[in-house]
Amino acid sequence: MTVKIDEKSCIGCKLCIAACPFPGAIEMVNKIAVITDKCTSCGACEESCPKNAIKVDREVDSKAHHVENYKGVWVFIEQRDGKVANVSYEILSEGRKLADELGTHVGAVIIGENINTLAKQAFAYGADIAYVVEHEVFKHYRTDSYTDVMVDMINTYKPEIVLFGATNNGRDFAARIAVRLNTGLTADCTALTIDKTERLLEQTRPAFGGNIMATILCPTRRPQMATVRPNVMKMAEPDYSRKGTVIEVQSNINPDDIRTKVIKIIEDTSKTVNLVDADIIVSGGRGLGGPEGFTLIEELALTLGGAMGASRATVDAGWIPHSHQVGQTGKTVAPKLYIACGISGAIQHLAGMQTSDTIIAINKDPEASIFNVATYGIVGDLYEVVPVLIDEFKKALKGKEVSNEVACGKFA
Ligand code: FAD
Ligand code: SF4
Ligand code: SF4
Repeated sequence: MTVKIDEKSCIGCKLCIAACPFPGAIEMVNKIAVITDKCTSCGACEESCPKNAIKVDREVDSKAHHVENYKGVWVFIEQRDGKVANVSYEILSEGRKLADELGTHVGAVIIGENINTLAKQAFAYGADIAYVVEHEVFKHYRTDSYTDVMVDMINTYKPEIVLFGATNNGRDFAARIAVRLNTGLTADCTALTIDKTERLLEQTRPAFGGNIMATILCPTRRPQMATVRPNVMKMAEPDYSRKGTVIEVQSNINPDDIRTKVIKIIEDTSKTVNLVDADIIVSGGRGLGGPEGFTLIEELALTLGGAMGASRATVDAGWIPHSHQVGQTGKTVAPKLYIACGISGAIQHLAGMQTSDTIIAINKDPEASIFNVATYGIVGDLYEVVPVLIDEFKKALKGKEVSNEVACGKFA
């Protein structure tokens, strides 16, 4: 897509500058609008011109007709200080299956500092090739530096599919790359399959408040890109006998061109919640009746060495921070044990926890929808049931070591 201004028609009214979301993309030169290299070809200015002086050429560019030049399934390996996010291995395991269906290879993209050993891990989870970009400039995730190097790599190696974890960084990163490459991106996928006839990635995600599942295709652009929520795909057993090829990618990024600097990292206390990785989660809902009810939830979570979750109703009411929220607009979790206390089981909450191994629901309404997904249901007042559970678990666990490190965090 290209954007041009017809100089003869332009009257210098500057309405296009007001309409353009990208500062500096249009400048006035001799009272005529001029498109600069900051233009992203978004087309937002076109309608603003009273003289129809802006011409946006939407002809699909030639790359779109050469989708066959793109091969391979790539997975971005998200890491912090060398520790890889579980979701990266989940999607690497899934990427392996997709690549096998397509008869192609899996590439793991590892960007950071001191990350060489991660290639071996990536091979164990299914990668054939590890593209490793190692430099101190990549120590911390920063949108500019990571996007520049990833876009260069995609343009060089031309993968047909690129997958990211739907984490904070993954969402930021994938969106930026998709815009730069003028390709599509499906966020928060819960399933990925292959249409073998058309060689297309079928990207499925909940839509319209979770009431339908939409399957999205990207037929004419490459790569096909998606982010995948943590815990929705199964991580394969690592096979450390697997070998692969390491491609060390050099980056010529100038640190001065990166617009953000990491000055200091302040640990968020609520990180101790660690909901996504917890084996046991005890969650509270509106049935608690008020913020003080979370003290009881916290006690049960601490007793079991679990983490504390919450429904959106309680987060919206300001009873507990959003970092505890489980569900469609919160975290997706799949613990071994999920105890839902005073939660009705709205579809948006279920979207975030229904793949848990065992679900115990405590609700005084026997008709509550949560019982439809519960392994065990307790019909009763949580203020009567939960204290009994705490006492019984304490007795049963007496003398046994329970890790409370991940437990609850401060929620007040
Ligand atoms: P309620 O639905 O009010 O249920 C309270 C339950 O507590 C009832 O079943 C009641 O019987 C029971 N109860 C009351 N008192 C007691 C007691 N003393 N003992 C035992 N049981 C008791 N919700 C999420 O949770 N996560 C999300 O990510 C999320 N995202 C959303 C996204 C969108 C676009 C929309 C539209 C909604 C979203 N929601 C989400 C909100 C969701 O639709 C529900 O409104 C919410 O989950 C309800 O929370 P709740 O179950 O705590 O409250
Ligand atoms: Fe600005 Fe978009 Fe118009 Fe380019 S196409 S000048 S970025 S509004
Ligand atoms: Fe020129 Fe049209 Fe921009 Fe006005 S809106 S300055 S006429 S291009």
